[in-house]
Formats: sequence, structure tokens, C-alpha cells
Amino acid sequence: MFENDPVRNVLYIDLSDKNFRVEERRDLFERYIGGAGVAIQLLHEECPEGCDALAPENPIIFAVGPLTGLFPLASKTVAMFKSPHTGNLGESHCGGRSAVAIRMAGYGAIVIKGRSDSPIYIAIHGNRVYFRDASSLWGMEGNITAGRIIREHEPGAGLRTIMRIGRAGEKLVSYACVTTETYRHFGRLGLGAVFGSKKLKAVMISGKRTLAVRDSKKFRQVYDEIYQAAVASLVMKKYHDLGTAENILPLNKFGGLPTRNLKEARFEGAPGISGETFAEEYLGRRLACSHCPVGCIHIAALREPYYDEPYFYKTSMICYDYEPIYALGSMLGGSDADGFLKLMDQIEIWGMDVMSAGVILAWATEAQRSGIISDTETMGIKLEWGDYAAYIDAVRLIIEQPNEFYKALARGVLHAASIYGGEDYALAFGGNEMPGYHTGPGAHIGVLIGARHSHLDNAGYSVDQKFLSEKQISPAELVGTLLAEERWRQTLSSLVICFFARGIYQPDTICKSLHSAGFDLTPEDLYRIGEEIHREKYRFKIREGFSLENLRLPGRIFETHSPVGKLDEEFIRRAIRICQEEVAL
Ligand code: SF4
Repeated sequence: MFENDPVRNVLYIDLSDKNFRVEERRDLFERYIGGAGVAIQLLHEECPEGCDALAPENPIIFAVGPLTGLFPLASKTVAMFKSPHTGNLGESHCGGRSAVAIRMAGYGAIVIKGRSDSPIYIAIHGNRVYFRDASSLWGMEGNITAGRIIREHEPGAGLRTIMRIGRAGEKLVSYACVTTETYRHFGRLGLGAVFGSKKLKAVMISGKRTLAVRDSKKFRQVYDEIYQAAVASLVMKKYHDLGTAENILPLNKFGGLPTRNLKEARFEGAPGISGETFAEEYLGRRLACSHCPVGCIHIAALREPYYDEPYFYKTSMICYDYEPIYALGSMLGGSDADGFLKLMDQIEIWGMDVMSAGVILAWATEAQRSGIISDTETMGIKLEWGDYAAYIDAVRLIIEQPNEFYKALARGVLHAASIYGGEDYALAFGGNEMPGYHTGPGAHIGVLIGARHSHLDNAGYSVDQKFLSEKQISPAELVGTLLAEERWRQTLSSLVICFFARGIYQPDTICKSLHSAGFDLTPEDLYRIGEEIHREKYRFKIREGFSLENLRLPGRIFETHSPVGKLDEEFIRRAIRICQEEVAL
């Protein structure tokens, strides 16, 4: 690492005392590079064992890496915290301008602790930190408006990030998200509720730095190599053209698209919500995170007439992707793209994790149809598959929490099912609502054993698609493949490289780019660091009470045919036992 590389600086902010300090943590960055590796160490240091996730002591940690600002696609910020949703490791990644803004402000990581007495937002302008009153922003209907107001009051246009919460975060919905730059999110595991518990409405960061490189000629060569690979890559073209929404039709054809709370895995309405339909009929623009030449963020333009004015239209710009389309589309039995976009827009405005929200609404629909909850609990709302008006009303009540039922829904599907029943079809893994894949055992095992119970931990769905149609795979082989992928992804996450670019950032390319950034590491070092970070995450999970032995498997995944037939419960349990031995500390 260069002597003065600002990446080694960690900014510690205390909201209770309205204080801050900067410490050089060369020790952390030299050992773990940045991102997830540094963040998990800071979480070990800063989060007291057994701490309530909504207590002032729970830290919010943001970390970036040494490649951020120097090379394309090192564009993610890793957030770590104790999750109010699962009561365990909270980790979420977000792009937008967040990573480059943190790096340009002169930090490799930021730690926020404490709780303010009244709503505030933090403005970090380089080495200055301001604690601003946010009373007038608290309670506002939309996080987008709050972001707009902050934008008008703070300098740094074009270089800054504005991370903020909506009503869901303020009301401590355990799966509230944090939104940046309107269309990007720290989506999963409830970072928004942690912000809300600290009365922290937003964090705004800006800065202007010049970053050093080791040999500018070599740097240029490596830069061009990565840039050209990114713009020429067919995979990246796919992400740019239709985005991940392209996967709706193939997954449906394959029979792996969860539909109506996974009562089925094929959806007759898939063409109405396919990536092709959105691109042809709604696509309004594409966006990119800072320092990314790909631009995979797809924004739909939804034009609606004003009810009392002929030829007057309101146009809403709403982002979409594969996961939201699955969660609010097929999972809710909805094939009406307009309806999907309206629900998506509201969930965006209120600031909730869209995947959790969709799975929770799907459970509630099935629970009402099967009679375990009635109109009394739903306060008169009749949840029917594909009825988006009813879903919007229900989400509003989840935010307001006017009765015990909506309070339960605000804490996730497992919590609601533990009170009202229907556990077999409460589709959460490790406490986190399921992603959009019923492709085979790999998808579910991957989420169960993944450190953050996300499909992005180890992409088990892709292992299903690669191997299971061609050959039998044993539980040991499957677990071995998933763990190897997850460990490598720890290295990528410590470099904060967008996973879409994982094919470009091969070990040799990473070593060359790190050399330009002042780090001398070998491919073996990268693998070792990935393994160590994975172990450290599991150490935190186990410290906080997580046990692979006690993992609950929703019965529904064994009832509905996947592309490889009905799943074998014993196969999955064996795989979990093998994983348990592998990650034993
Ligand atoms: S590929 Fe997409 S998610 Fe990844 S950095 Fe680029 S715009 Fe952001």
C-alpha cells in the first residue's frame, strides 16, 4: 500500500456525541485489502456480542477498496451491521456513486455508531463531517423527495452519494432498505431499520482526491485491458441490453421461476413481465454506477393519465431487474406490467427490500386464501394473486402497522408464520426471504449455507443450471463447489468488484491492478484472503447464535417440482451436515 493512500483511513462517527475521528488502519487494509474483509473485522471490533440490532451500539460499517476510483467496475460499497431481520450477520452491497464518493472523500471505511436524540443526516465533505437537523425530512412520504432536498442543500453535485431511508426505515420495518442515487440500494437484511433506530435519515458523502498509481504507463495498460474486456464482453452486453430481467423467460421455460408463493415454478403470465416486454414497452433509460462502462440499470417510464385532465400524463421512472420482477410479479401471480410497476414504485418510495416484501405478500395471500388469517387481520383487504391495488394497500399498512398482523408482517415472513401458522410455506432461508430460483438443490442449499443467505453468496442457482441437467452431483461435490465460489467472492467483495465483472477480474488481472494500486499480492494470497474472510464471517455468525444444525427448511420447496424433479430432503440435509464440518471453526 502507498504510504499516504487514504484507503487506510477509517472515519469513526458517533451520533450520540456528534463527534468523529479518523484512524489509520493500515493493519486491516494490508491484511484484508478492503470491502468485506475490512468490514467484517470492524464488525468484530465494534459490535458487542449479543447486541440488539436496533441498539445504539450496533455499528453501521461502510467499506470500499484500493481499486475503487482507479479501475472500472470496482464500484460497490460493502455495508456490514448486525441485521434486525435475522438477528445475525447483516451484509449488503450497493453501487451508485457510493463507493467512489467514499474513496474520493479520503476513506477506505466509515463506522457509524450511537443514536441521535432527534432526526439528523450526516454530510461528509472530505475531512469535514457535519451533523445536520433532519426533523423536517423525517416522516416525509418518499425517500426520493428527501434525497432531492438534501441535494439542493449540499455541494458536491455529480461526485456525491446520498444514502437515505424512507418511511419503512423510520418505522423500523426489519427489512427496510437504504437507497442511494434513487435507483440503487443496500437492499437486504434491514440496514434501513438500523439507520431508523439511530434517527439517521441520510448519509451524504462527497470529496475530490487524486489517487496515486505505481507506474502510470503500466496502470494505463491494465486499465485499458479491463475496460476493453468490459465493453467487448457478450455477458456485459446482456446486462446492458435487457439486464437481468432477460432471465425471466428462460427460467420460466426451465421450470425454475417461483410462482404464487412457489405453489408452482412455471408462470403462464411470464411473457407479460419479461425483460423483452419491459424493454420494448417501458424502457425509459439506462444508468451506470460510477466508473462503470456497462450501464446495467434499467429504468421503466410508466405514463399514467391524470384522472381529471384529458391528455395530461404523469411519468414515473421506476427501476426493474430480475429479482423485483420475480418477487412482485410471478411470486404474486401478477402478469400486469403496469400493476407491477406501480407496486414497485410505492415500495421504492417507502424504502423496503423488494424481495422480502414480495415473499411476505405471497405468504399473506396464501394464508388468507387458506383461511388461517381473515379480513379482520388484513383490515378488510382481500389479497388475491395479481391484485396490485390490494398489495399497495397492504404495503401501506405494513408501514403504518395499525394492528398486530401488520406489525408481524413488518418483521418478516418467519415471524408472521410463527404467530399465525403456515410455516411450511413461509419461504425464508436463514431468516431471509427467498430469491427467485427454484432451479434445483443448489439454489436452496446455496442460500441456506451462504453467509448472508443471499443468492449472491455463491450463486447456487447457476450451479444447478451448469451441472444438474448433465450429470449427477453428490452433496459433497455440490457443497465443495458452493464454498469455493463463496470464498472467491469474498476476495472480489474485499476489492468491491461488481459481481457482473467477475469473469473479467481473473486472479492475474486482479494482481496486476493491485500492483498499480500499491499492493503486491499473488493469486495464492487472493485465495487465502477469501478463505479467511469467509471464516471470519462464520465466526461472527456463530458468535451471534447461528447454527447450520438448526436450519429450518420450508416444506414447500419439497412439494413443487423443480427442473430436476422433486427435491430430496435427505440430499439437502446431508449437504448441510457436510458444510457444517467444512466451516467448523
Ligand atoms: S454492471 Fe451494473 S451493477 Fe455493476 S457496476 Fe455497472 S451499472 Fe453497477
